[in-house]
Amino acid sequence: MEKILNYIDGKLIEPASQKYLDNFEPALGTVYSQIPDSDATDVELAAISASKAFRSWSNTPKEKRSAILYRISELILENLEELALAESRDNGKPVSLAKKVDIPRAAHNFRFYSTAIIHFASESHSMEGGVINYTLRKPIGIAGCISPWNLPLYLFSWKIAPALAAGNCVVAKPSEITPMSAFLLSKICIKAGLPPGVLNIVHGLGHKVGSAISSHPNIPIISFTGGTKTGETIAKIAAPMFKKLSLELGGKNPNIIFADCNYEKMLDTTIKSSFANQGQICLCGSRIFVERPIYERFKKDFVEATKKLKVGDPKADTTNQGALVSQVHHEKVLSYIELAKTEGGKILAGGLPLDLSHEGLNGWFLQPTIIEGLPYNCRTNQEEIFGPVVTIMPFDQEEEVLMYANSTQYGLASTIWTQDLSRAHRMADQIHAGIVWINTWLLRDLRTPFGGVKNSGVGREGGFEALTFFTEPKNVCIQF
Ligand code: NDP
Repeated sequence: MEKILNYIDGKLIEPASQKYLDNFEPALGTVYSQIPDSDATDVELAAISASKAFRSWSNTPKEKRSAILYRISELILENLEELALAESRDNGKPVSLAKKVDIPRAAHNFRFYSTAIIHFASESHSMEGGVINYTLRKPIGIAGCISPWNLPLYLFSWKIAPALAAGNCVVAKPSEITPMSAFLLSKICIKAGLPPGVLNIVHGLGHKVGSAISSHPNIPIISFTGGTKTGETIAKIAAPMFKKLSLELGGKNPNIIFADCNYEKMLDTTIKSSFANQGQICLCGSRIFVERPIYERFKKDFVEATKKLKVGDPKADTTNQGALVSQVHHEKVLSYIELAKTEGGKILAGGLPLDLSHEGLNGWFLQPTIIEGLPYNCRTNQEEIFGPVVTIMPFDQEEEVLMYANSTQYGLASTIWTQDLSRAHRMADQIHAGIVWINTWLLRDLRTPFGGVKNSGVGREGGFEALTFFTEPKNVCIQF
């Protein structure tokens, strides 16, 4: 059985404990590889190696750093098939989705930051009296990057690429549930000529490896994507150490549909924004609010389209929805469906686990589920479920739907469907969300900053903002 190894000081090595954890394939429900059960000793080794590499990497000309990162992006694309299969075996997502979205986007992240660093400029301000203020932006040192299981390489690279481009060294931890593509990335980095110690990948559990990274005294900057509760734990450790912190956390995103929308486009996109990646994208719209005049029509069409989704073997091209990431997560999502029923919800589609053992698939499948009849403020409509489960609900007034939309602790993303330009701008202005999509979903120019408000996170990733985050400003004021 394949053993995943840590990537420390440019080498692929076993964990100090010599212990391994099982890596499950969610579609089959069986173990398919072994993951290092690393701990603080391995994080310490990684931090030492990053620290050794920092002086040289931070002084490496930007063009050279850029060329290596660009080469990594090319190698990701050259290994698209292998990486997509790894993502699917780790996560349960359709291989076709990983090939179309996750892996190309991971390559794009490296490509984007390899070029962004060359064009990155810092500020300069002239004052009266022959004075110039300018800001030097220097890499900080070692960045700790911790990422979740839902978009494994996509989110891992989203942190690592800007941190490295800016001249930092990195100690990173992918989710222990989905480690394979990060392992393949370490091989790609070796092949691309990334100097030893510049990137270190330590595999293992959050409470061991993740917490050793967040509490390490020589790792002054942490970029974390994951659940709000974990973000809170990390913030409690990092804040008293005055670490620079970026937290991208959970969401409970509203999808608001007005009667004047482009109906066909809305319906087609809403299927994707509800169930893509088994609903396990932090940006999925899990609360769907529909203006009353089209509510019944939408309900009928949406249920019909959802029932047509093919749930099954992630390797088959015809599959729309694969398996949920783990047994524990499957149970959690099912428990929310039970909760919805006790809260008065009516299941319009799905609601049940799917037994595909007759196809040799003994993993954690779930029918895409639509629930109606729940109040906006019940737990099902307030807590993040993170699965193929959405609620639908009618509304009459703009103010009313804004109140529903803004009623949760979260503020990550939102979608609005309307042809009324003024209303679109009005809603975008008033909705509590880091990103507002109007008549589309999941589209984004990588130059724009990304992140949530309220309990969906602090700090912004993406764009030049990420390069700013991974550097330390020093203001210089000179009078001539
Ligand atoms: P978790 O918060 O459980 O885990 C995220 C990462 O943190 C994993 O690598 C995990 O390791 C690690 N971790 C766990 N405990 C600690 C700890 N005490 N200290 C340091 N690290 C720790 O999230 P999930 O992996 O379950 O991901 C799903 C969540 O991520 C959802 O809430 C989703 O909304 C959010 N998310 C947010 C996004 C955004 O951009 N805002 C994007 C994508 C997802 P391990 O796997 O070993 O537990």
